[in-house]
Amino acid sequence: MNILNQPIEILTGIGTQTASRLQKLGLCRIQDLIFHLPLRYEDRTCVSPINSLRPGMTALIRGRVEFIDVSAKGRKSLICQISDGTGFINLKFFHFTTNQHTALKPGILISCFAEVRYGYTGLEMIHPEYKLIVDSGDCIAESRLTPVYPLTEGLSQNVIRNTVKQALNLCNREPELLTDWIPESLLKQYHFPSLAQAVSTLHAPDGACSRETALQRLAFEELLAHYLALRINRNKAKIWLAPCFSETEAGKLATEHFLCSLPFKLTGAQQRVIAEIEADCRLPHPMMRLVQGDVGSGKTVVSAYAALLALTAGYQVAVMAPTELLAEQHFQNFSAWFAGFDTQVMYLTGQLKANARKSVLLALEDGTAGIVIGTHALFQDSVNFKRLGLIIIDEQHRFGVHQRLALREKGQQGEVRPHQLVMTATPIPRTLAMLQYSDLDISIIDELPPGRKPIVTSVIPAERRADVIKKINGWVAQKKQVYWVCTLIEESEVLQCEAAEKTSEMLTLALPSLRVALIHGRMKSADKETIMQAFKNHEIDLLVATTVIEVGVDVPNAGLMIIENPERLGLSQLHQLRGRVGRGNYDSYCLLMYQTPLSDNARHRLGVLRDSNDGFVIAEKDLELRGSGEVMGTRQTGQIHFKIADLSRDSELVDRIQQLGDHFLTHSPEAVQPLCDRWLGTLTDYSEV
Ligand code: ADP
Ligand code: MG
Repeated sequence: MNILNQPIEILTGIGTQTASRLQKLGLCRIQDLIFHLPLRYEDRTCVSPINSLRPGMTALIRGRVEFIDVSAKGRKSLICQISDGTGFINLKFFHFTTNQHTALKPGILISCFAEVRYGYTGLEMIHPEYKLIVDSGDCIAESRLTPVYPLTEGLSQNVIRNTVKQALNLCNREPELLTDWIPESLLKQYHFPSLAQAVSTLHAPDGACSRETALQRLAFEELLAHYLALRINRNKAKIWLAPCFSETEAGKLATEHFLCSLPFKLTGAQQRVIAEIEADCRLPHPMMRLVQGDVGSGKTVVSAYAALLALTAGYQVAVMAPTELLAEQHFQNFSAWFAGFDTQVMYLTGQLKANARKSVLLALEDGTAGIVIGTHALFQDSVNFKRLGLIIIDEQHRFGVHQRLALREKGQQGEVRPHQLVMTATPIPRTLAMLQYSDLDISIIDELPPGRKPIVTSVIPAERRADVIKKINGWVAQKKQVYWVCTLIEESEVLQCEAAEKTSEMLTLALPSLRVALIHGRMKSADKETIMQAFKNHEIDLLVATTVIEVGVDVPNAGLMIIENPERLGLSQLHQLRGRVGRGNYDSYCLLMYQTPLSDNARHRLGVLRDSNDGFVIAEKDLELRGSGEVMGTRQTGQIHFKIADLSRDSELVDRIQQLGDHFLTHSPEAVQPLCDRWLGTLTDYSEV
């Protein structure tokens, strides 16, 4: 076994306590230490004369102890004055030992490193790091910058420096331990340093290569490892069998009938994606396909077509949506679309009464229900299918990567697993999607249904509420409908609902001739359904809502949306919300009504939304303005975390990972596992997390 894979305990000076502290930083194996990079560096490469020191400088000095004393003035402290012939400085220790007191005898030589401050008695250093100099000829300056590592409680900079140094020394002695899996030709092409050079530069910069390129070299390898891990996972999944939805005459008739009964013609993009899905399902291995398409691009009907393929082959379909509201809407759409077919469409959420639930479960077990639509309640242990052939997951970005992978095992019978179709409105940039979903085949619906007009978006201050209310009146006079979205306090659903209630009261008073209704997440499921149905039937003019309507909701006659406090939401989320309008063939409007004062960054971000209707562009900008962690945000759990790579900084690298990763899989298969081990450690098998 390569010694770098050994636990850190085998290094000198690492007891169980230190080891467990290092573990908190994710440092378990020796190679983890090698990739534990400094946060910053300290410069101890030259000794500063004391008379050159200025407050605020961090400096290395060398001098003789002049006197030492314990001062009882103010806080008790040990004060030690040193001079180097050019001037004096006081060292001050608030915590000190008798040993320290006796060791710092007048006349001895010491070196100190700390920030210089200006105190009562002139220049001083508080708690400097110091060393006694035994031989006055000793050189005390370091040849390289000193690394400062991220720490955790109970761990000192010295301990971690020492530990990392031991790990680096091992590699220096035996360079082949740290195998460079990236071929030399590639390093040249990218002007990357070797792995050893990159590591050594980052821990102790020496000017041989820039810190930036060294960092890029490592980030590149980390991204590659993540990509490869998901690809391996996908290849592993390909060994499973799946029901093969073979082509039959009856099936052909059914799909023709389905397409004819739609009130519209599919777009070219929809047809292309359907063909891709169809090709997958005709194979005896599980389809794992992601359909990406901006809000309103018509993903639902594409998934219904896939469901039809399963049905006509005699299999059941489960459709999972992230919210009850959306599940309910899908239920209605699917019920209508499959009304002429000999099957039952059923609805299953956590809110169902025991009896209703029982009958759904029965129908799934005995196979009378061909399609079931629901929330994550679909995947509880008590739900059993007779012949589940296809799982459809809508708005996948609301679920995490691990959750998705876990679902694969659901519905497994022996060697056979259902096909899986996941859909997302791409609130994540292409580059990120590629990493996040490299275990999936991707289809993109890059065309909106014809006749759609861009949504006209304005950014206005809340002070103009009166104008907005006038606009609503005029809009409703044209027999169109309006959403008013309260986002006020996103973290708390209770407060959000309260705010929506208040707003709804206010608007009912301000707009007495309008039919105003309120919908929020804390309402009973049945009440939500009634309201949504009434809104669809145009029995409501103005729907005051919380962000529950963010995903999926589809009412083409609603073409005006007011979003309050948009500055508190992420751009991609706002784009999703806004996607509720712009579904008819008339001009739609979105008013982003912010609270003043608006920060520059918020103004900039809302401007992005005003100027673009393209989900991809918005997601890229969001990434740029907020960084990947934020875009993925707390709303999306279970996403990939990187040690070194930063998706906004390294986006150019990400662009190349796919091609290189595939090259690696074919040409350097032996490098794949070690790379995954190096960067993902025990997490290599995503599906087991
Ligand atoms: P999303 O991709 O956001 O899930 P939906 O599936 O909800 O979009 O579709 C949005 C609206 O567009 C729905 O009312 C749907 O019936 C309609 N639609 C879908 N495809 C077409 C098409 N080819 N032509 C016209 N309208 C379409
Ligand atoms: Mg949808």
